[in-house]
Amino acid sequence: TRRQLLENAGGPALTQDGCRIDVAANVANAGDAAEAAEHGADGVGLLRTELLFIERDSMPDENEQREACQAVFDALGDRPVIVRTLDVGGDKDMPYLPLPAEDNPALGLRGIRTGFARPEVLDVQLRALLALKPLSRLRILIPMIAEVAEVRRVRERIDALCAEAGIGERPELGVMIEVPSAAVLADQLAREADFLSIGTNDLTQYTLAMDRCHAGLADRLDPFHPALLRLIAMTVAGARKHGKWVGVCGAMASDSLAVPVLLGLGVTELSVAPVLVPEIKARVRSLAIEQCRKAAEGLLLLDDARSVRERAAALWQHH
Ligand code: PEP
Ligand code: MG
Repeated sequence: TRRQLLENAGGPALTQDGCRIDVAANVANAGDAAEAAEHGADGVGLLRTELLFIERDSMPDENEQREACQAVFDALGDRPVIVRTLDVGGDKDMPYLPLPAEDNPALGLRGIRTGFARPEVLDVQLRALLALKPLSRLRILIPMIAEVAEVRRVRERIDALCAEAGIGERPELGVMIEVPSAAVLADQLAREADFLSIGTNDLTQYTLAMDRCHAGLADRLDPFHPALLRLIAMTVAGARKHGKWVGVCGAMASDSLAVPVLLGLGVTELSVAPVLVPEIKARVRSLAIEQCRKAAEGLLLLDDARSVRERAAALWQHH
């Protein structure tokens, strides 16, 4: 029952064969974070900082940014918080941050590209993050990375800002895998980064060349597509070469049927909607990694998303 699920949510999610899977939450503000804590999240796997920036007419200053993130920290006790740097641009309107008009916003200045186009905006945000307490709980995640030079560039900025502020410790730095080139080059990215987090929403959009908001394509825009599964497998293989872990923070992680697939592909952290933490943890506890791994190998060979879904449903739907 729902009550039993909630009661068990606080504990770690261990698979039948004893592997620990972190089940964290996707949040946008302190309210979401409180909800995540109530539902037993192991931390925040994705703090989308956009909410603080959109629908207003001036940029939030360093103090305001720090306070908003600190409130999320405080709601989560001593658990880690992964903060994603600003991921706007193109279609999202920020009158105080004019960016050139674009014909294809989804393929334009987005995510970290905005940060490079407006370095002062990135610097203010990084300064705000580096002022969070305790800093040991902070992990910084960079959106829309397409190649390794971009990671180096951000790390250099973090190093410079830390040196300026006299900060000795460095927060862990993660890379979002949501552009196909990043999945293909995951081994290179994992050399520079401390962890990888797969954004299946954008990775699906860019891999299948289907707009994630296109109503007419919605039923074909499916992260169960074998091309996506292969890119996830590639990401995990690249990360493992360098002893790094891989999480999933796209909507796929919140889908109970996708959990055994992702675990089978080697993902060890899932970041999900706060209210879904209890049931995703319950799902993890019902599974054995070894069985998931063998099954996932077969899924990679199927022709299309529908076949993958049918096979997955046959294996795990009523499990
Ligand atoms: C994603 O692309 O899967 C993701 C988590 O980022 P967003 O949905 O915010 O683009
Ligand atoms: Mg994304």
